[in-house]
Amino acid sequence: MIHNVIIIGSGPAGYTAAIYNSRAGLAPLQFEGMQPGGQLTITTDVENYPGFPDGVMGPDLMADFRKQAERFGTSFIEFKNIKSIDTSARPFVVEDDFGERYEAHSIIVATGARAKLLGLEKETELMGLGVSACATCDGAFFVDKELVVVGGGDTAMEEATYLTRFASKVTIIHRRDVFRASHVMLERARQNAKIEFLLWNQVVDIYKGDDGKLCGLQLQNTQDRSKADFKCDGLFVAIGHQPNTEFLGDEFEKDDVGYLKVNNGTRTSVEGVFAAGDVHDPLYRQAVTAAGMGCAAALDVQHYLTEKGIA
Ligand code: NAP
Repeated sequence: MIHNVIIIGSGPAGYTAAIYNSRAGLAPLQFEGMQPGGQLTITTDVENYPGFPDGVMGPDLMADFRKQAERFGTSFIEFKNIKSIDTSARPFVVEDDFGERYEAHSIIVATGARAKLLGLEKETELMGLGVSACATCDGAFFVDKELVVVGGGDTAMEEATYLTRFASKVTIIHRRDVFRASHVMLERARQNAKIEFLLWNQVVDIYKGDDGKLCGLQLQNTQDRSKADFKCDGLFVAIGHQPNTEFLGDEFEKDDVGYLKVNNGTRTSVEGVFAAGDVHDPLYRQAVTAAGMGCAAALDVQHYLTEKGIA
């Protein structure tokens, strides 16, 4: 069987593409990956997705996206990763990590990106319980709290500056005294009265309070290796993101970090393969922008299949 379109990924971008393509009668096959629903399934309240005046839980939102895609005829494959796409001939051949192969006339890559984490044991345990990798998502939960942002790039400066809307104090902890952040964003953070900088330090442990939430950190000085405790209410890890594009070969143009390059809408460098969401967007990274791009990719697929006389 040759599928009209295979959608790889199941965040807001992938599900929205599935809704549009299934509603257009293309019966897409969607690979949901190892974390069906994507990054939103590890957040709690989502307060900035339009249409939900009282907010919505991230997992509930993704479950509804999925139901909507299913209603119009999307088929799903859960808990399988795609290992490779053979782009040397048409139809494309997509292979999963169990060696099973699927054929498709077109593909939408919506595999997203993952926030880089520090790799500490309690970091994942306390995610949503004081640890976050997204100020836009979680900042509003920390009104009048003392927060730490780790990192020395633009993301760290931007997150810290944003968090001062809510927090009483934000400390940027960076492991050296040279910043990757642009001058303008670094200066904006430096000029902010609520932001302090703690340099030459690394977070090496996270403390959990009796309420099950983060209550402090252990820091290590990166010069003399001495350790010290640091009291705070929240930790925002802002050390960069990694797009999930490792399974795509060199025929796919990517930037230095690995984000897919697109042109003329959502077209990748391989004709017939389209990209949507965080996998090609290092800038906005929001559920609503990803959903919008999922819609755009689905429409681009429809035009492509019509042009080729396929559907
Ligand atoms: P980045 O520029 O790569 O900076 C990552 C920072 O995290 C670096 O300071 C790095 O420290 C630190 N870091 C990495 N691993 C760490 C670890 N294990 N422990 C402690 N610190 C660690 O990443 P980014 O800030 O996410 O920016 C990525 C790109 O997006 C950049 O091109 C940036 O300009 C762009 N961006 C733009 C905007 C905007 O224009 N509004 C906003 C955000 C991002 P070292 O320096 O010591 O390696």
